[in-house]
Amino acid sequence: MEWEAVIGLEIHVQLLTKSKIFSGASTAYGALPNTQACAIDLGMPGTLPVLNREAVRMAVKFGLAVNAEIAKRSVFARKNYFYPDLPKGYQISQYELPIVRGGYLTIRVDGRERRIGITRAHLEEDAGKSLHEDFHGLTGIDLNRAGTPLLEIVSEPDLRSPKEALAYMKALHQLVVYLGICDGNLQEGSFRCDANVSVRPKGEIKFGTRTEIKNVNSFRFVERALSYEIARQIEILEAGGQIVQETRLYDADLDQTRSMRSKEEAMDYRYFPDPDLLPLVLDQAFIEAVRQELPELPEAKYRRFCEQYGLKPYDAEVLTASSALADYYERVVQDSACDPKLCANWVMVELIGALNKENREITQSPVSAPQLAKLMQRIADGTLSGKLGKQVFELMWQTGKDVDALIEEEGFKQITDQGAIEQVIDQVLASHPKEIADYRAGKEKLFGFFVGQVMKATAGKANPQQVNALLKAKLKSQ
Ligand code: ADP
Ligand code: MG
Repeated sequence: MEWEAVIGLEIHVQLLTKSKIFSGASTAYGALPNTQACAIDLGMPGTLPVLNREAVRMAVKFGLAVNAEIAKRSVFARKNYFYPDLPKGYQISQYELPIVRGGYLTIRVDGRERRIGITRAHLEEDAGKSLHEDFHGLTGIDLNRAGTPLLEIVSEPDLRSPKEALAYMKALHQLVVYLGICDGNLQEGSFRCDANVSVRPKGEIKFGTRTEIKNVNSFRFVERALSYEIARQIEILEAGGQIVQETRLYDADLDQTRSMRSKEEAMDYRYFPDPDLLPLVLDQAFIEAVRQELPELPEAKYRRFCEQYGLKPYDAEVLTASSALADYYERVVQDSACDPKLCANWVMVELIGALNKENREITQSPVSAPQLAKLMQRIADGTLSGKLGKQVFELMWQTGKDVDALIEEEGFKQITDQGAIEQVIDQVLASHPKEIADYRAGKEKLFGFFVGQVMKATAGKANPQQVNALLKAKLKSQ
């Protein structure tokens, strides 16, 4: 029997506000434990929460970016449960009336485009952190994170494979970073994913019983965790068993999921509207003002790069991965006025290659976009061959020096003088009579040998196209 997976993701995005969602305490990461939770975050008697306008603006920005409906009226509710890192005994969240409803995100997998529905996105506060590792037999509690604003984004069960789930997670990550509403740091927990998955016989319309995998917090693990879980479910069903609806945890070390709690043990959160907070009412003017702040979105940029620069889908995708990289690329094209595809190659192969080798961000590149543009020009105007260009790029990367200064200092100029090249060719041919005879006898592969000899004699500086043309002519005429 053929099986089909059904997947829906719940992603918690930490919003990039300076202060918490209901207090003025700082949200900065990495402070000493328990130095950034104020009386409101701790739920001290007599305190009242005040909603952070910036968090609302960011949620609206997200909603507009995914073509969702922005609720003119949404309500904060108390989600009640007891846990040591939840100081108030409840989390303020949105339940029945979230701020964002509907919408979609476009993903591309194997050249196929799909729209993945977004059910809802709601604002809520984060809890603190329990630290189990540093204390023998004890649990440490750090409440710095309590009250940090989160946007929980829930997808429709529209995803059909681990690969699609990964593509969705990446597309969502890219979007929230583009929007400037999240720093996107997965290690620090700014972007957290829970994955819901079930399987059903291919062609079946009804969904199967799902499990929820908690905390799949890296792109690397989402595919693996889901693949494992899908295989586990299929095995059970094929053996005639039934899937238990439960929450499971992915263990990256063992590459498997294991049960945390079943639906029966699931908590009853006793949601009710928070009496300390008024319903959140937004007017159209506020929503329109936020719309004006929207940057060019990843999807639109991707399409524009394909059309305007004639790039292949893969190249356009790579170059629009972040807006900083896209800006860099466009600056190179504009400043150099060179072929956009040539520029794309240099950015993707040389620049990104060098960045990856040193694990650097585009913003930390020692070679600036205007400098790379100048290098493109020197290749276009024949001063440098492509090969010399790569050597110059390496030196630019290491020294941060100007292209022209390096060409001058290191004597990198390409030899384009016909007479000079011919002279070298004559010398090479004169010292290889046997090879010439073999070549004429039909061993055409030797042409490359002659080219190599000429390039060697000029330390790689002869213009390769000229060398080719002149050599051809000489070998014919001699
Ligand atoms: P909760 O986890 O709070 O019960 P929902 O029932 O709304 O919330 O579902 C959460 C996520 O589970 C959503 O992303 C949804 O798309 C996904 N989902 C719901 N049903 C299934 C199913 N049968 N198989 C896979 N995913 C599902
Ligand atoms: Mg859930």
